[in-house]
Amino acid sequence: MNGLRGKRAVVVGASRGLGAALARRLAAEGAAVALVARSRERAAEVARSIGATGARAIAVGGDAARYADMQRAMAECGARLGRADILVNNAAVIEPIARFVETDPAAWAENIGVTLLGAYHAARAFLADGAAAGRVIVNVSSGAAHQPLEGWSAYCAAKAGLHMLTLALAAELGEQGLRVYGYAPGLVDTAMQETIRASGINPISRKRRDELAPADEPARIIAYLCTGEASDLAGRELDFRDASLRRRAGAPALE
Ligand code: NAP
Repeated sequence: MNGLRGKRAVVVGASRGLGAALARRLAAEGAAVALVARSRERAAEVARSIGATGARAIAVGGDAARYADMQRAMAECGARLGRADILVNNAAVIEPIARFVETDPAAWAENIGVTLLGAYHAARAFLADGAAAGRVIVNVSSGAAHQPLEGWSAYCAAKAGLHMLTLALAAELGEQGLRVYGYAPGLVDTAMQETIRASGINPISRKRRDELAPADEPARIIAYLCTGEASDLAGRELDFRDASLRRRAGAPALE
């Protein structure tokens, strides 16, 4: 449980759901963690509960859609914890959930602004000093990056773009020692899935809650990707169905 001892991690989108579970897991593996979200107070609650376990965690308010906020988040992490070694781009929004001809252009742009541009902003700020060697970026992907789903045009387009950002970063900086991963977590029991269920728009929205994975499960796998043990997998997008990765990360096998 200390594969990340001495490391400093920034999780963008860490106030609830998968991001909060991931922050807990990274801390359990020995990392000091900066939790970034728009709702700073909620992120601070999660950070306090991590702190109560003896680990170091701080909360930073910030909107991934704004580059200046991500620069400030990295600077605050640097000042309070030290320069970040690990960045997890977990922030995303599912809205607008609507048939294409009914989508609101402003909401569509907002999705791209958080889900795709947000990851660019955080990665750009993380890499501002040009240092790549030994550092890690995980972009939280989705099956929606590869499979179009009715009513999710903005989210699918943003996640497809994020997939290419993963590959582009790996192509440009992989040889300099930056390890970049995409990880599609499968269906996870979070607030995002509550919103999806309420919409009833496509087959995913008809999944029962007991068909969803607990957030700890993808969190364990993403934390594993952040350790040096996963370096042979760098530069790729991985998926929750990967049985070998699940075994290596100590996650339960799928039935
Ligand atoms: P969630 O419950 O909606 O949580 C999203 C997190 O991102 C929250 O902490 C939210 O905090 C933060 N966030 C949203 N917009 C932000 C912004 N502009 N700036 C900074 N933080 C922002 O979602 P989740 O289900 O845990 O999803 C986590 C990741 O997994 C996402 O990338 C999602 O696309 C991916 N994913 C989820 C599922 C699933 O079944 N749940 C499936 C595939 C992929 P604030 O609102 O406080 O900012």
